[in-house]
Amino acid sequence: MTRTLAIANQKGGVAKTTTTASVGAALADLDVSVLVVDLDPQGCLTFSLGHDPDSLTKSVHDVLLGAHDIADVLLDTDDNITLLPATIDLAGAEALLLMRPGREYALKRALAEVAQDFDVILLDCPPSLGVLTLNGLTAADEVVVPLQCETLAHRGVGQLLRTVTEVQQITNPELKMLGAVATLFDARTTHSRDVLSDVSDRYDLPVLDPPIPRTVRFAEASASGASVLRGRKNKGATAYRELAQNLWSYWNGAPLRTFELGV
Ligand code: ADP
Ligand code: MG
Repeated sequence: MTRTLAIANQKGGVAKTTTTASVGAALADLDVSVLVVDLDPQGCLTFSLGHDPDSLTKSVHDVLLGAHDIADVLLDTDDNITLLPATIDLAGAEALLLMRPGREYALKRALAEVAQDFDVILLDCPPSLGVLTLNGLTAADEVVVPLQCETLAHRGVGQLLRTVTEVQQITNPELKMLGAVATLFDARTTHSRDVLSDVSDRYDLPVLDPPIPRTVRFAEASASGASVLRGRKNKGATAYRELAQNLWSYWNGAPLRTFELGV
């Protein structure tokens, strides 16, 4: 059975794309067959996996609008994962999709055509709660929320959770909120932990184990187009490998490990 996981938070810069690419690459290293979907018109995931959005002629945009079969748009990447890429065209998809009936189901319908080829599908949602994120949440079995462990991290979380509830009521009753992925975590101070326990309590949101520490290597990696998991060993990569293992074990029947915030 294919597991489809949406990585969503309408706040930008919380490491949605980094989490998608890193968990995807870590799962691929476990011999899991992975498809990642770039739902952000900025195309950062596409770029970080070695493809230049500006030079692509087909993208998820064409798939959502029914202009191309999904199988014709998929790309291979050096990280051994398959990519459904985005280009800036996707910025117009919002308006075009709005005029169509069943607009929230466009991605779900397309993914059904190739799902049998993959064990896991990861959806990198854009920084908004518009029709593209609704497509992601409608196509997903589960959703995680990357949370940057800084003051005001909770802003917008309530709105995101309300959107998830609405999707559960209307387009995807099976959608399950797995919890938060703590990103840019600083274990040396209590601040990250305080912020996390505040958000976790306020919204009754479990935090997946482990948190992902802030690592200089990550900023370098996204700039060079290589996955953060390659090259020199670093604690961010190790954490993402553990997170991928946690998810994979969970999908195979083990309980999901959560991070204990109690002090
Ligand atoms: P989003 O997709 O939510 O907008 P990104 O994944 O693009 O967020 O990450 C935003 C920025 O933070 C990027 O420059 C990325 O390289 C950086 N970043 C992500 N995770 C880490 C980390 N663990 N340590 C340091 N920088 C990170
Ligand atoms: Mg992103």
